[in-house]
Formats: sequence, structure tokens, C-alpha cells
Amino acid sequence: MTVRATDRAATVRTMRRPRIKPEHRAYRTVDGNVRIGSVVHGIGAEVLDPDGWVWTLVEAMDGTRGPDDVVAEVTRRHPGLALADEDVTGAMDDLIRAGYVEDAGAPPPAELTAREQERYGRGMTLMRWMDLRPRASSWEPQLLLRRARVLLVGVGGTGGAAARDLVASGVGHLHCVEPDVVELSNLNRQTLFGESDLGRPKLDAALAALRALNADTTLTGERREVRGPGDLEDLLTAAKPRHPDGAPYDLLLLAADRPPEIRRWANRVCLATGTPWAEAGYRGPLVSVGMFAPGRGACWQCLRDAEAERRDLRLAPGQDEDVASPRMPWNPVNAVTAGLSGSLLAHAALTLLCGIPPVEPGCRFGLNLMVPGDPVLQRSERRDDCPACGTRPAVTTPDGEAR
Ligand SMILES: [Zn+2]
Repeated sequence: MTVRATDRAATVRTMRRPRIKPEHRAYRTVDGNVRIGSVVHGIGAEVLDPDGWVWTLVEAMDGTRGPDDVVAEVTRRHPGLALADEDVTGAMDDLIRAGYVEDAGAPPPAELTAREQERYGRGMTLMRWMDLRPRASSWEPQLLLRRARVLLVGVGGTGGAAARDLVASGVGHLHCVEPDVVELSNLNRQTLFGESDLGRPKLDAALAALRALNADTTLTGERREVRGPGDLEDLLTAAKPRHPDGAPYDLLLLAADRPPEIRRWANRVCLATGTPWAEAGYRGPLVSVGMFAPGRGACWQCLRDAEAERRDLRLAPGQDEDVASPRMPWNPVNAVTAGLSGSLLAHAALTLLCGIPPVEPGCRFGLNLMVPGDPVLQRSERRDDCPACGTRPAVTTPDGEAR
């Protein structure tokens, strides 16, 4: 895409005092090139700089000058190059569009108190590091999180850890749904609960623990079991308490695995209501999270069908894939696998709510604890023949269930 010089200048002038983000600090390689954005794969880049003025540019973008003064500083220090102002402005614009620059002159948003800025300051700098989108303020993602309304179904091992991470991070409103009571066998992994909570509804114990963690978050909940897609639809569309602007939840997080069809139901209801959602869990040492947004890439069913084809489990026609990794009546899990699963779910929520990191939904990723360095990653295109989101008519079984 060609960007006009006037547009480039306009982008640059939105910044009062452009500064290379501290986390993206540039350095010069032995070849004289400029490496910027840190050495983290997915963030950093290398810029050729045969004449040395790009290095001067990144040095000048230290948050002490306005854009015009940055251009003047670069041209002043390289008089022999006959640099045009447009060249320098264009390079500055490239750096801004790549996400390496923040506006040191942008005041913190008035909506965030000094106490909140202190509380969430470290998280803001991590978001700033992982963010590759130009923003008016580096606090913008924190505001998005504070305005967010999230529905969490299941507050056990995965859901409890996800709730803990989101509430600590400053999510605005979390509504928790959970029917069970705390049992002794839960305590090896459900770390929101203690021995004094045995026999108590998990919902009450979780809300008490989360309120103690962060009074900034609006915490609500209901003791309820999801028995069908209608229950999920009811939960999603009847936001309680209803937000002043009348909008339902921004996001569904599914951390329940009963009944077994619950993910299929969530997929269907989220497609129908246009709700982004994520689900996480573990199967033995495999821990993963899937994140989905209607209209953006594969849905849960697309991904599941594509993965079944890819894995080629050598199943006979009609044989259910669960025979290859059976579900056990007990739940092999500890605080590590449940905690990782919940943290991945919270991470997916931040991605869907704030766009950080800029990972497109319609994928599943995670860890295989048996083989460090062997990441779990699934991504597929949206499938035309998908029975949930596809455009071709679905094949229907005699009992009316779409397949
Ligand atoms: Zn689909």
C-alpha cells in the first residue's frame, strides 16, 4: 500500500513528542543497521541504515521534541546527505505505524486515578511492549480492559485462575457462573479456595476472594448450571446487572467442561449473538486455549473439523475421536496445569478485548509439558462446509442434531 506524503505527515503530527517505546529501544548492529523493537520474535525489526541517519532519527525520538524538531535535528546532523523533510517524516511515520513509538506528550487518561496508574503501571508497560498498534496513549488498552464486561462460565481450576488474572489486571466487570460447592478434591488446583471454604458454594467463595483481590472490579455472579444452549443464550443476552448503555457482555470465557456438548453450544450461541469467546482446558500434559470471534476466521467447529482431518487418527467411519484420548471419570490435573490453562484463558481475553498481542482469532495454542519447545498450535481457514458457520447447508442427522 502506498501512503501519501500528506497522510504520513498527518500521522506524525498526531504525536506531540514522539518517543521510541522504552521496551523497543533500538541498537546498532556491527553492520551499521538499526535493530528496533527488542529481539523478541514477532516484535523486532532490522532497518538498513547505510548513511547513518536512521540511527540519528531513533536517537532524536526520545520524547523531548515535537515532530518538526525531530526532522530538523536529523537534517542538521547530516548536512551532506541533502535529506528531504519528507524522507525523515516518512521514516518516522513507518516507525509509528509499526508500533514502536508512543507519544511522550500524551497525558494519562483522566478516567484513571493516580492510584490506578500506580496499581496497573507494570501491566501497562507489558501491554506497551506487546502492542504493535499506534495509540493516542499507552494507557488506552488499560481503559479498554476497565470498560470490558466479561461473562465467565465455570470458576473451578481453569476459571478460577482466569478470574484471578483478569481481576488483578483490572477488568471492569466480571460475571461468574458456577453451580458447584467446594470439595476437598478441588483444593489441589482450585487456588481461589481454602480449607475453610469446604462445603461452601464455589461462587460465594470465588466472589469473596476476588473482591478481596481488587475492589476496582465490579463482581457479580449466579449459582447456575448450563444445561443447554438456551441457558448460554440467556446468560449472554441478559447481562446482569445490565450495563448503563444496555450492551451485553463483550466476551464469553468458557471454563466448564460439563456437559460434554458445552463447547459446541457456546460456539453456536456466540455465532448467533456475535460474541467473541475463548475456551481453555487441559488433557493430561496438553494445555491449550482456543479463541474465536464471529466473522473473523475459523469458528470452534471449523477448527475442530480441520484438526480431526489433520491428525488422521485412523478411525473407522463413524468412530468418535474420543476413543483416541478417552475421558476418565477422574480428572488428572494439578495446580500447574489448571493454572496454566486459566492464565492462557485470561491472556486470550486480553487479546480479544485489547488487540494485544495482535493475534487473529480462530486458533488454538498452548503447551505440551512433555516436550518443552513443542508448542501446540492449530489454525485453519473458515470452512464453507462448517455446520456451525459455513454457507453450505448442514447435513442433519435423524435426531435433528446438525453435524
Ligand atoms: Zn465454522
